Amino acid sequence: MLIEIITLFPDGIRAMLNESIPARAQRFEAVEIELIQLRDFATDKHHTVDDKPLGGGPGMVLKVEPIANCIRHLRKTRPEPEPYIIYTSPQGRQLDQDLVEELAKKQRLTIICGHYKGLDQRAIDEFIDTEISIGDYILSGGEIPAVAIADSIIRLQPGVLGDAASAMGDSFTRGLLDHPHYTQPAEWEGIKAPDVLLSGHHAKIDEWREKQAVDRTKKLRPDIYEKQLGIRN
Ligand code: SAH
Repeated sequence: MLIEIITLFPDGIRAMLNESIPARAQRFEAVEIELIQLRDFATDKHHTVDDKPLGGGPGMVLKVEPIANCIRHLRKTRPEPEPYIIYTSPQGRQLDQDLVEELAKKQRLTIICGHYKGLDQRAIDEFIDTEISIGDYILSGGEIPAVAIADSIIRLQPGVLGDAASAMGDSFTRGLLDHPHYTQPAEWEGIKAPDVLLSGHHAKIDEWREKQAVDRTKKLRPDIYEKQLGIRN
């Protein structure tokens, strides 16, 4: 899988994606990540990428030409596979595990990070396949959302997680929140981990974990629990 990220601020993204699981995924060539500096595609000698809003008002808007140049350049230098182009935007479909699983199947994603007031609408209309939000709040730019999108997709690529079963237990993956986890020491400052986890009885441990996952989901996320009941019935 190829993930291209178009941004004015590649350093922060690079730092995040070159650690831990995403770094390993790149080493194993499960994913190739390319960071593209939007400023390189500006058309004037000052490398201007933003301008004042037409019609007036505060803030700056990212210009359409650098984005058009950049997307066309990426398509030309690598015609295949066809990119699926995402704009990180608070107005988009909210990222959840279902959407992550859909995106994880694509061969090539191009993520455009907005900044300031956002993109000139013509860039969105002409080039974007989908807008994705990471929640109903406003960030300074699309870099944090791009990392969230990329990271959540990368960990689903085959072979990236050491143990494929590990992802299956994670919250949202099977319609329940995860169960609680404990590690050594079995007793810490007088507080014991649940006895069942030390019993060595795997069926009982599985049963306990399942009940914890169900109880937690019911308590913390009744919306997910109701949906899951609907699916099971
Ligand atoms: N004026 C825009 C917000 C601009 S915020 C509006 O109200 O819709 C600047 C940039 O940060 C956006 O272009 C977008 O790329 C990114 N951004 C901010 N919040 C985001 C969120 N919740 N999800 C995804 N991207 C976001």
